Amino acid sequence: MAKLIDGKSISKQIKDELAQRAGELAKAGCTVTLAVIQVGSDPASTVYVNNKKKGCEYIGIRSLSYELAQETGEEELLALIGELNGRGDVNGILVQLPLPGHIDEDRVIRAIDPTKDVDGFHPQNVGALCIGQPGFVSCTPAGIIQLLKRSGVSIAGKECVILGRSNIVGKPMALLMLRENATVTIAHSRTTDLKEVTKRADILIVAVGKPKMITREYVKEGAVVIDVGINRSETGKLCGDVDFEDVEGICSAITPVPGGVGPMTIAMLLHNCLESVNLQ
Ligand code: NDP
Repeated sequence: MAKLIDGKSISKQIKDELAQRAGELAKAGCTVTLAVIQVGSDPASTVYVNNKKKGCEYIGIRSLSYELAQETGEEELLALIGELNGRGDVNGILVQLPLPGHIDEDRVIRAIDPTKDVDGFHPQNVGALCIGQPGFVSCTPAGIIQLLKRSGVSIAGKECVILGRSNIVGKPMALLMLRENATVTIAHSRTTDLKEVTKRADILIVAVGKPKMITREYVKEGAVVIDVGINRSETGKLCGDVDFEDVEGICSAITPVPGGVGPMTIAMLLHNCLESVNLQ
Protein backbone atom coordinates (compact mmCIF):
# COMPACT_ATOMS: atom_id res chain seq x y z
CA MET A 1 0.00 0.00 0.00
CA ALA A 2 1.42 3.39 -0.99
CA LYS A 3 2.17 6.03 1.62
CA LEU A 4 -0.21 8.96 1.33
CA ILE A 5 1.61 12.30 1.04
CA ASP A 6 -0.68 14.56 3.05
CA GLY A 7 -0.50 18.08 1.61
CA LYS A 8 -3.12 19.35 4.01
CA SER A 9 -1.12 18.58 7.13
CA ILE A 10 2.25 19.57 5.59
CA SER A 11 0.80 22.90 4.45
CA LYS A 12 -0.61 23.47 7.96
CA GLN A 13 2.87 22.79 9.38
CA ILE A 14 4.37 25.39 7.00
CA LYS A 15 1.63 27.94 7.69
CA ASP A 16 2.19 27.61 11.44
CA GLU A 17 5.92 28.23 10.93
CA LEU A 18 5.10 31.25 8.77
CA ALA A 19 2.62 32.58 11.36
CA GLN A 20 5.44 32.61 13.88
CA ARG A 21 7.72 34.51 11.46
CA ALA A 22 4.95 36.96 10.58
CA GLY A 23 4.45 37.55 14.33
CA GLU A 24 8.16 38.31 14.77
CA LEU A 25 8.08 40.74 11.83
CA ALA A 26 4.99 42.43 13.30
CA LYS A 27 6.79 42.82 16.63
CA ALA A 28 9.62 44.51 14.73
CA GLY A 29 7.05 46.92 13.29
CA CYS A 30 6.59 45.33 9.85
CA THR A 31 3.07 44.39 8.79
CA VAL A 32 3.49 42.28 5.66
CA THR A 33 0.88 43.24 3.06
CA LEU A 34 -0.34 41.41 -0.04
CA ALA A 35 -2.46 43.15 -2.71
CA VAL A 36 -4.78 40.70 -4.47
CA ILE A 37 -6.30 41.77 -7.80
CA GLN A 38 -9.15 39.89 -9.45
CA VAL A 39 -10.64 41.01 -12.76
CA GLY A 40 -14.17 39.68 -13.35
CA SER A 41 -15.93 37.12 -11.19
CA ASP A 42 -15.01 33.71 -12.59
CA PRO A 43 -16.28 31.35 -9.83
CA ALA A 44 -13.11 29.20 -9.73
CA SER A 45 -10.93 32.34 -9.48
CA THR A 46 -13.14 33.67 -6.68
CA VAL A 47 -12.62 30.43 -4.72
CA TYR A 48 -8.83 30.65 -5.20
CA VAL A 49 -8.74 34.34 -4.26
CA ASN A 50 -10.82 33.75 -1.12
CA ASN A 51 -8.57 30.86 -0.08
CA LYS A 52 -5.52 33.09 -0.52
CA LYS A 53 -7.10 35.82 1.61
CA LYS A 54 -8.02 33.26 4.29
CA GLY A 55 -4.42 32.01 4.24
CA CYS A 56 -3.17 35.57 4.78
CA GLU A 57 -5.53 36.03 7.70
CA TYR A 58 -4.41 32.72 9.23
CA ILE A 59 -0.74 33.66 9.35
CA GLY A 60 -1.17 37.38 10.04
CA ILE A 61 -0.53 38.98 6.64
CA ARG A 62 -2.68 41.99 5.76
CA SER A 63 -4.46 41.51 2.43
CA LEU A 64 -5.79 44.34 0.27
CA SER A 65 -8.50 43.29 -2.11
CA TYR A 66 -9.05 44.83 -5.58
CA GLU A 67 -12.12 43.38 -7.30
CA LEU A 68 -12.30 44.89 -10.79
CA ALA A 69 -15.15 44.55 -13.28
CA GLN A 70 -14.82 42.06 -16.16
CA GLU A 71 -14.71 44.94 -18.67
CA THR A 72 -11.79 46.71 -16.93
CA GLY A 73 -9.31 47.86 -19.58
CA GLU A 74 -5.68 46.78 -19.73
CA GLU A 75 -4.41 50.34 -19.15
CA GLU A 76 -6.56 50.71 -16.02
CA LEU A 77 -5.18 47.45 -14.63
CA LEU A 78 -1.61 48.49 -15.49
CA ALA A 79 -2.18 51.84 -13.76
CA LEU A 80 -3.31 50.05 -10.57
CA ILE A 81 -0.23 47.78 -10.69
CA GLY A 82 1.96 50.87 -11.18
CA GLU A 83 0.41 52.48 -8.12
CA LEU A 84 0.89 49.32 -5.99
CA ASN A 85 4.50 48.97 -7.23
CA GLY A 86 5.17 52.43 -5.85
CA ARG A 87 3.53 51.93 -2.45
CA GLY A 88 6.03 51.28 0.33
CA ASP A 89 3.36 49.59 2.46
CA VAL A 90 2.62 46.89 -0.16
CA ASN A 91 5.05 43.95 -0.18
CA GLY A 92 3.42 41.54 -2.63
CA ILE A 93 1.15 41.90 -5.67
CA LEU A 94 -0.90 39.02 -6.96
CA VAL A 95 -3.02 39.21 -10.12
CA GLN A 96 -5.34 36.21 -10.26
CA LEU A 97 -5.10 34.41 -13.62
CA PRO A 98 -6.62 33.81 -16.07
CA LEU A 99 -7.46 37.37 -17.06
CA PRO A 100 -10.30 38.23 -19.47
CA GLY A 101 -9.34 37.70 -23.13
CA HIS A 102 -9.01 41.44 -23.94
CA ILE A 103 -6.09 41.80 -21.48
CA ASP A 104 -2.56 40.73 -22.42
CA GLU A 105 -1.47 38.52 -19.50
CA ASP A 106 2.22 38.67 -20.36
CA ARG A 107 2.19 42.47 -20.35
CA VAL A 108 0.46 42.47 -16.94
CA ILE A 109 2.95 40.00 -15.45
CA ARG A 110 5.87 42.07 -16.77
CA ALA A 111 4.37 45.21 -15.21
CA ILE A 112 4.61 43.84 -11.66
CA ASP A 113 7.75 44.93 -9.78
CA PRO A 114 9.83 41.69 -9.70
CA THR A 115 10.53 42.24 -5.99
CA LYS A 116 6.74 42.17 -5.37
CA ASP A 117 5.98 39.30 -7.79
CA VAL A 118 4.99 36.73 -5.14
CA ASP A 119 3.62 34.35 -7.82
CA GLY A 120 7.12 34.13 -9.32
CA PHE A 121 5.85 34.58 -12.90
CA HIS A 122 7.88 37.68 -13.89
CA PRO A 123 10.59 36.86 -16.49
CA GLN A 124 13.24 38.27 -14.11
CA ASN A 125 12.26 35.75 -11.42
CA VAL A 126 12.02 32.91 -13.93
CA GLY A 127 15.50 33.84 -15.20
CA ALA A 128 16.86 34.02 -11.64
CA LEU A 129 15.56 30.51 -10.98
CA CYS A 130 17.20 29.32 -14.18
CA ILE A 131 20.66 30.56 -13.18
CA GLY A 132 20.35 29.81 -9.46
CA GLN A 133 20.02 33.36 -8.18
CA PRO A 134 17.64 34.57 -5.43
CA GLY A 135 14.11 35.47 -6.49
CA PHE A 136 10.54 34.30 -6.16
CA VAL A 137 9.80 30.74 -7.26
CA SER A 138 6.45 29.75 -8.75
CA CYS A 139 4.33 28.51 -5.82
CA THR A 140 3.08 25.11 -7.02
CA PRO A 141 6.53 23.69 -7.93
CA ALA A 142 8.05 25.19 -4.76
CA GLY A 143 5.28 23.50 -2.77
CA ILE A 144 6.04 20.13 -4.39
CA ILE A 145 9.69 20.37 -3.30
CA GLN A 146 8.48 20.95 0.27
CA LEU A 147 6.04 18.02 0.00
CA LEU A 148 8.86 15.71 -1.06
CA LYS A 149 11.37 16.93 1.50
CA ARG A 150 8.97 16.96 4.42
CA SER A 151 7.75 13.44 3.51
CA GLY A 152 11.31 12.14 3.64
CA VAL A 153 11.64 11.50 -0.12
CA SER A 154 15.27 11.94 -1.16
CA ILE A 155 15.68 13.69 -4.49
CA ALA A 156 19.42 13.84 -5.25
CA GLY A 157 20.48 11.34 -7.89
CA LYS A 158 16.91 10.17 -8.57
CA GLU A 159 15.36 9.86 -12.03
CA CYS A 160 12.59 12.46 -12.12
CA VAL A 161 10.11 12.67 -14.97
CA ILE A 162 7.88 15.74 -15.20
CA LEU A 163 4.86 15.34 -17.41
CA GLY A 164 3.83 18.81 -18.68
CA ARG A 165 5.92 21.82 -19.70
CA SER A 166 3.81 24.85 -18.77
CA ASN A 167 5.48 28.04 -17.59
CA ILE A 168 3.78 27.90 -14.20
CA VAL A 169 4.26 24.23 -13.33
CA GLY A 170 6.30 21.96 -15.63
CA LYS A 171 9.27 24.18 -16.52
CA PRO A 172 9.95 25.68 -13.04
CA MET A 173 9.41 22.21 -11.57
CA ALA A 174 12.15 20.84 -13.79
CA LEU A 175 14.54 23.62 -12.75
CA LEU A 176 13.83 23.05 -9.06
CA MET A 177 14.36 19.28 -9.32
CA LEU A 178 17.61 19.97 -11.15
CA ARG A 179 18.62 22.34 -8.34
CA GLU A 180 17.95 19.41 -5.95
CA ASN A 181 20.30 17.25 -8.07
CA ALA A 182 17.72 14.94 -9.64
CA THR A 183 18.24 13.67 -13.19
CA VAL A 184 15.37 15.39 -14.94
CA THR A 185 13.30 14.53 -18.01
CA ILE A 186 10.42 16.72 -19.20
CA ALA A 187 7.71 14.94 -21.22
CA HIS A 188 4.80 16.54 -23.08
CA SER A 189 2.16 15.97 -25.75
CA ARG A 190 4.79 15.39 -28.47
CA THR A 191 6.80 12.83 -26.48
CA THR A 192 6.93 9.53 -28.33
CA ASP A 193 6.36 6.38 -26.29
CA LEU A 194 5.27 8.30 -23.21
CA LYS A 195 4.78 5.19 -21.06
CA GLU A 196 8.37 4.12 -21.67
CA VAL A 197 9.56 7.56 -20.52
CA THR A 198 7.34 7.88 -17.43
CA LYS A 199 8.20 4.31 -16.36
CA ARG A 200 11.82 5.38 -15.89
CA ALA A 201 10.83 7.74 -13.09
CA ASP A 202 11.70 7.23 -9.44
CA ILE A 203 9.72 10.44 -8.93
CA LEU A 204 6.91 11.11 -11.40
CA ILE A 205 5.32 14.58 -11.34
CA VAL A 206 2.19 14.89 -13.45
CA ALA A 207 0.77 18.25 -14.61
CA VAL A 208 -1.23 17.64 -17.80
CA GLY A 209 -4.77 18.70 -16.94
CA LYS A 210 -6.29 15.41 -18.17
CA PRO A 211 -8.52 13.65 -15.63
CA LYS A 212 -7.11 10.28 -14.48
CA MET A 213 -4.87 9.97 -17.55
CA ILE A 214 -2.03 8.28 -15.66
CA THR A 215 -2.79 4.65 -14.92
CA ARG A 216 -0.42 1.99 -13.55
CA GLU A 217 0.96 1.27 -17.06
CA TYR A 218 2.77 4.63 -16.85
CA VAL A 219 4.31 4.03 -13.44
CA LYS A 220 7.38 2.10 -12.30
CA GLU A 221 6.83 -0.12 -9.28
CA GLY A 222 7.88 1.74 -6.12
CA ALA A 223 7.87 5.22 -7.73
CA VAL A 224 6.78 8.35 -5.87
CA VAL A 225 3.85 9.95 -7.73
CA ILE A 226 2.94 13.63 -7.41
CA ASP A 227 -0.37 14.62 -8.98
CA VAL A 228 -0.68 18.34 -9.78
CA GLY A 229 -3.92 18.08 -11.77
CA ILE A 230 -7.16 19.62 -10.61
CA ASN A 231 -10.01 18.43 -12.80
CA ARG A 232 -13.68 17.58 -12.58
CA SER A 233 -14.61 14.01 -13.46
CA GLU A 234 -17.72 13.24 -15.57
CA THR A 235 -19.71 13.03 -12.34
CA GLY A 236 -18.49 16.48 -11.26
CA LYS A 237 -16.13 15.13 -8.57
CA LEU A 238 -12.72 16.72 -8.12
CA CYS A 239 -9.95 14.47 -9.46
CA GLY A 240 -6.31 14.63 -10.47
CA ASP A 241 -4.38 13.69 -13.61
CA VAL A 242 -3.51 10.36 -11.98
CA ASP A 243 -5.95 7.48 -11.59
CA PHE A 244 -5.36 7.26 -7.84
CA GLU A 245 -7.16 3.95 -7.20
CA ASP A 246 -5.28 2.24 -10.04
CA VAL A 247 -1.83 3.65 -9.26
CA GLU A 248 -1.72 3.51 -5.44
CA GLY A 249 -1.26 -0.26 -5.48
CA ILE A 250 2.01 -0.05 -7.41
CA CYS A 251 3.74 3.15 -6.24
CA SER A 252 5.53 3.72 -2.89
CA ALA A 253 3.99 7.14 -2.16
CA ILE A 254 1.33 9.30 -3.80
CA THR A 255 -0.46 12.64 -3.34
CA PRO A 256 -4.28 12.64 -3.23
CA VAL A 257 -6.52 15.14 -5.06
CA PRO A 258 -7.84 17.10 -3.26
CA GLY A 259 -5.50 17.44 -0.28
CA GLY A 260 -2.14 16.92 -1.99
CA VAL A 261 -0.42 19.61 -4.05
CA GLY A 262 -3.32 22.12 -3.92
CA PRO A 263 -2.93 23.27 -0.28
CA MET A 264 0.85 23.62 -0.78
CA THR A 265 0.42 26.27 -3.47
CA ILE A 266 -1.18 28.68 -1.01
CA ALA A 267 1.35 27.87 1.72
CA MET A 268 4.19 28.78 -0.66
CA LEU A 269 2.43 31.97 -1.75
CA LEU A 270 2.36 33.02 1.92
CA HIS A 271 6.01 31.99 2.20
CA ASN A 272 6.83 34.25 -0.76
CA CYS A 273 4.94 37.15 0.85
CA LEU A 274 7.22 36.96 3.90
CA GLU A 275 10.28 36.52 1.66
CA SER A 276 9.35 39.72 -0.15
CA VAL A 277 10.36 41.67 2.94
CA ASN A 278 13.94 40.39 2.53
CA LEU A 279 14.03 41.05 -1.21
CA GLN A 280 12.79 44.63 -0.98
P1 NDP B 1 -1.17 23.45 -19.26
O1 NDP B 1 -2.42 23.12 -20.01
O2 NDP B 1 -0.58 24.80 -19.36
O3 NDP B 1 -0.04 22.39 -19.66
C1 NDP B 1 -0.33 21.04 -19.82
C2 NDP B 1 0.91 20.31 -20.26
O4 NDP B 1 0.57 18.93 -20.41
C3 NDP B 1 1.45 20.77 -21.61
O5 NDP B 1 2.85 20.87 -21.54
C4 NDP B 1 1.02 19.69 -22.57
O6 NDP B 1 1.94 19.43 -23.62
C5 NDP B 1 0.98 18.47 -21.68
N1 NDP B 1 0.01 17.48 -22.17
C6 NDP B 1 -1.30 17.69 -22.43
N2 NDP B 1 -1.86 16.53 -22.87
C7 NDP B 1 -0.90 15.60 -22.88
C8 NDP B 1 -0.85 14.25 -23.24
N3 NDP B 1 -1.93 13.60 -23.67
N4 NDP B 1 0.32 13.59 -23.15
C9 NDP B 1 1.44 14.23 -22.71
N5 NDP B 1 1.45 15.52 -22.34
C10 NDP B 1 0.30 16.21 -22.43
O7 NDP B 1 -1.50 23.06 -17.74
P2 NDP B 1 -0.89 23.58 -16.35
O8 NDP B 1 0.54 23.18 -16.23
O9 NDP B 1 -1.27 24.98 -16.11
O10 NDP B 1 -1.76 22.69 -15.33
C11 NDP B 1 -1.75 21.28 -15.37
C12 NDP B 1 -2.76 20.76 -14.35
O11 NDP B 1 -2.37 21.19 -13.06
C13 NDP B 1 -4.19 21.29 -14.54
O12 NDP B 1 -5.08 20.27 -14.15
C14 NDP B 1 -4.27 22.45 -13.57
O13 NDP B 1 -5.59 22.68 -13.13
C15 NDP B 1 -3.42 21.92 -12.45
N6 NDP B 1 -2.81 22.96 -11.62
C16 NDP B 1 -2.89 22.76 -10.27
C17 NDP B 1 -2.32 23.67 -9.40
C18 NDP B 1 -2.38 23.37 -7.94
O14 NDP B 1 -2.25 24.28 -7.14
N7 NDP B 1 -2.54 22.12 -7.54
C19 NDP B 1 -1.66 24.89 -9.88
C20 NDP B 1 -1.55 24.96 -11.34
C21 NDP B 1 -2.13 24.03 -12.15
P3 NDP B 1 2.27 20.53 -24.80
O15 NDP B 1 3.14 21.56 -24.14
O16 NDP B 1 2.98 19.71 -25.79
O17 NDP B 1 0.95 21.06 -25.24
